[in-house]
Amino acid sequence: MKRVLVTGGAGFLGRHLCARLLQEGCQVFCMDNFYTGSKDNIREFLDYSCFKMIHHDVCLPFYLEVDEIYNLACPASPIHYQRDPVQTLKTNAYGAINMLELAKRLQVKILQASTSEVYGNPQQHPQDEEYWGHVNPIGARSCYDEGKRCAESLFFAYHQQHQLPVKVARIFNTYGPYMQCEDGRVISNFIVQALHHKPITLYGNGSQSRSFCYVTDLIEALFRLMHSPAKITGPINLGNPQELTVLELAQMVRRLTNSRSKIVFRPLPGDDPQRRRPDILRAQELLSWQPRIELEAGLMHTITYFDKLLSHTPQPASY
Ligand code: NAD
Ligand code: UDP
Repeated sequence: MKRVLVTGGAGFLGRHLCARLLQEGCQVFCMDNFYTGSKDNIREFLDYSCFKMIHHDVCLPFYLEVDEIYNLACPASPIHYQRDPVQTLKTNAYGAINMLELAKRLQVKILQASTSEVYGNPQQHPQDEEYWGHVNPIGARSCYDEGKRCAESLFFAYHQQHQLPVKVARIFNTYGPYMQCEDGRVISNFIVQALHHKPITLYGNGSQSRSFCYVTDLIEALFRLMHSPAKITGPINLGNPQELTVLELAQMVRRLTNSRSKIVFRPLPGDDPQRRRPDILRAQELLSWQPRIELEAGLMHTITYFDKLLSHTPQPASY
């Protein structure tokens, strides 16, 4: 039985990855400090003999005999990663070093969940992997963006210096069931607001764009990348190139939920990227992968999930 470590396994993507690895017959070790993740996400796995939850902070050294490592530990929503920027930087830098040291000692493959944020507020559109990015190194988002860039640098340093088999995925905005209601990211915010017929909070004028990937498509890509030939190290963009503005997204969510919500405008957060769309040619060629779930279909799955969840949860006083 293959033994696989998933750091950040109790988070949104981590939960889906653990589920997929269990389906594949792996012994899964889910490591998390529950900073943004939740035991509810993985509760259904806790009784499985092939699943083990390890409460641990990735910033601290760690030893466990495993065959593969997926390093996902890091808050991903701007409100969460900006709450404690020093901790975000530590999680990215120390977390990467600790997991790379483990992989080096065991001589096993290690995959890093990097991000489209390494491109910052991009001056090239769409973004391919050759683009070096346009990041404000001291701005509100820099703890995340520069933390992830530092982690990428560490991954390639270990690869070049120690011949470590690494895989670096640059993940673009991903959504789906098991995002937290209070996650703060745009899709969960809009759906929860629309289902409650509360105002939909549009930051700025809503002309900024994003490209959203449904979670099962993304997990398939991570799995393929981990199992790709050793020479495929990445970085490799993983996302759905279907781009739309945040205003268009708000209108779509309102329509799909039959909501009476008004759209209200709020200040644009600092350094909010204006445009983002992945060039996924590399993933198509090297992993024979491309997303399959259209945005409307993915949103409907996500709306159904939140609808069920909220009907069992007392409504919060305000948003
Ligand atoms: P999430 O916040 O839901 O999950 C992150 C998980 O990491 C949580 O369970 C959290 O408790 C855990 N964690 C945070 N700091 C930790 C630490 N020091 N030690 C141990 N565990 C820690 O976020 P997500 O959307 O599931 O993102 C997972 C990974 O994918 C992150 O590395 C994120 O940067 C990356 N990513 C996600 C997206 C996306 O759209 N979801 C896009 C780009 C990159
Ligand atoms: N956004 C918004 N309203 C919200 C939450 C986010 O208009 O309630 C905007 C945000 O300013 C950004 C986009 O939606 O332009 C995506 O935000 P998210 O935090 O989901 O991801 P990121 O900015 O990291 O891509």
